[in-house]
Amino acid sequence: MINHRSHALNLFLTRPKATKVVESRKISSYYAENVFTESKLRTYLSNDAYKAYMQTLAQGNKITRELADQIAAALKAWCLEKGTTHYTHWFQPLTGTTAEKHDSFFTLSGNGTAIEKFDGDALVQQEPDASSFPSGGLRATFEARGYTAWDPLSPAFIMDISGSRTLCIPTVFISYTGEALDHKAPLIRSLEMLDKAATGVARYFDRFVNKVTATLGWEQEYFLIDKAMYYARPDLVASGRTIIGRSPAKGQQLEDHYFGAIPDRVFNFMVDLELECHRLGIPVRTRHNEVAPSQFELAPMFEEANIAVDHNSLLMDVMDRVARRHHLICLLHEKPFAGINGSGKHNNWSMGTDTGTNLLSPGKTPRNNLQFLTFFINTIKAVHDHADLLRSSIASESNDYRLGANEAPPAIISVFIGDFLIRALDAIEQRVDKDIKEEEENDLKLDIHKMIPDVLMDNTDRNRTSPFAFTGNKFEFRAVGSSANCSEPMMVLNMIVANQLNDFKTKVDKLIADGEKKDSAILIELRACIKSCRKILFEGDNYSEAWAKEAAKRGLPNVKTTPLALDALTSKKAHKLFSESGILSDKELEARHEIYLEKYIKKVEIEANLLHELCMNMVMPACLQYQTDLLNNIKTALEAGIAKTALKTQYDLVGTIGKHIDGIYKGIDKMLSESEKAHHQKTTRDAAIYFCDKVKPLFLEIRQHSDALELYVEDKYWPLPKYREILFNR
Ligand code: ADP
Ligand code: MG
Repeated sequence: MINHRSHALNLFLTRPKATKVVESRKISSYYAENVFTESKLRTYLSNDAYKAYMQTLAQGNKITRELADQIAAALKAWCLEKGTTHYTHWFQPLTGTTAEKHDSFFTLSGNGTAIEKFDGDALVQQEPDASSFPSGGLRATFEARGYTAWDPLSPAFIMDISGSRTLCIPTVFISYTGEALDHKAPLIRSLEMLDKAATGVARYFDRFVNKVTATLGWEQEYFLIDKAMYYARPDLVASGRTIIGRSPAKGQQLEDHYFGAIPDRVFNFMVDLELECHRLGIPVRTRHNEVAPSQFELAPMFEEANIAVDHNSLLMDVMDRVARRHHLICLLHEKPFAGINGSGKHNNWSMGTDTGTNLLSPGKTPRNNLQFLTFFINTIKAVHDHADLLRSSIASESNDYRLGANEAPPAIISVFIGDFLIRALDAIEQRVDKDIKEEEENDLKLDIHKMIPDVLMDNTDRNRTSPFAFTGNKFEFRAVGSSANCSEPMMVLNMIVANQLNDFKTKVDKLIADGEKKDSAILIELRACIKSCRKILFEGDNYSEAWAKEAAKRGLPNVKTTPLALDALTSKKAHKLFSESGILSDKELEARHEIYLEKYIKKVEIEANLLHELCMNMVMPACLQYQTDLLNNIKTALEAGIAKTALKTQYDLVGTIGKHIDGIYKGIDKMLSESEKAHHQKTTRDAAIYFCDKVKPLFLEIRQHSDALELYVEDKYWPLPKYREILFNR
């Protein structure tokens, strides 16, 4: 019999020294070499075609068949030069991973000669066999027609896997009747909505603004562990987290890992990863250790949100692949290890104009600052009005382990803006109409204007515990889970802010039509916004008990679990907002709700099955073996004439082990019968809630027995790599 644990430890200890990855060229010399960038377009397209294409994109028009053929030809020429043999439509279905189906450029011509072919049709639209992607009933399975459609706004790239190259074309995935089946379609719709709404408002301040783009800079946290340890833990392999496992004597108490020296093996991985990222045009810039042992973070420069989302999805694939090359495994689960910090993915978000202004950046002049305050306050108001939707946008089975675990932002959505801006809001709120008019006449000499530029400097008192914090020139949504696709929270944020800006503009325009001057109309409306959204602002410690109490008093929702958080998608308000915004129709929204609930149920079920299996196949046999050995020891002692009373410790140990084995056994029994009952609930929602309330708590109960046994049973019997072996390996 092999003990997987000792085998894994052996493998780990005898690993050949990691191959060092060195790239001595300047990053700028290979940056985006595998991306079909605008400059490559210019090279491979005729001048006329290039101009026509750029114009089509700028005006948001449909790309003609002829133009698509020309672009396909350009792509093909570039690909063949780079030794690319296949192409794929690359998309992000609601499964949570990316999907691709490769076709080769190679085909046979009429007379049987081999040629390479790629035309506009192949570029623009494909029909993957879509029946096995989740659709929430949108696409009856008998007509499994979903298709992928080219997103010309996100550049195509070549994925190079050990020298085999495939052209990846970012696409949206929609049903035959046009309903979104993926993350990207609604994200693009929300970006268009935000563009229109924000451009309208930005023109109050600068009439040359023609376009506003949402910007996103994500910060990706992850764990990196040895491959052998991973494969010796069936729970990590199947669910991404350890469902049992005792906390080590030394965890993160000493906080000696954060920003510490990066271990060599990890460093090699990071260098390799960054190399891959840079070739793919993912502008990663920072790397460092995180709080927990074996936890790290990677962050890029921010980009237009659609591209940033694609880049994050791509990154998660690349991370997995590169890690394996280094005999490491990258864990993206939000909480792979109990008792040790989980991983998040902060989403830094802002809005930028085509005139080069960051609309959330406080300016140097009163005018700029009124613009800043307008976008700043409207964002807060949007978060206030739709906190439930934001909460639902980050809900997942795995993120539930992290939110509210007193180490990550809680499930309560609140906004941190810092003392300074609080005072600025106070100043606006306290002004009466008379003052506002006087100030208008005096060219807006609000004292707050003199103060605000300092905000940029005064970035030090950042509140790290807030789920939604203003950090100088952007908002940082911190409750997003590390394994999440950023598009969901970004889509909701774009939509609610756009909706708020539209509402704001309607009101301001009305005031102006009624004779109010523009700036005072804006200030009057801002004041109204501030008044109505105060309760979402919180500057204190979000991890504290006191805040949970205070939030309850303020009437802020604190929805701790996914099935209930997803209820936000079913409200009348949500349906109205999503459908009027044209982002998700009632049908699409209902389908999503169903898909997310089903995903939740499946995940809990997988963990239940895993726990069952691990306990029966691995934990219990090891414990029984040890117990038998203890009993043999007692037997031998008794035979040697040692008094029973002198063997109290041995008897106690046998008893304790027996007690916990019993505990596991009973817990599993209960868990299986509750899982069974969960399936007999009337609706998917009821089933999800049942799994959440009745099945999941048993995981912890069973785990406590198993983790106790891990302590009592002699080390050599234990079949699974222990936390200390997984986490402190360098
Ligand atoms: P931290 O939050 O860990 O202190 P940084 O301040 O270094 O991190 O940056 C966080 C992220 O914010 C980076 O990914 C950066 O690209 C992003 N960021 C900076 N400015 C903007 C912006 N205007 N819009 C969106 N993201 C931004
Ligand atoms: Mg951050």
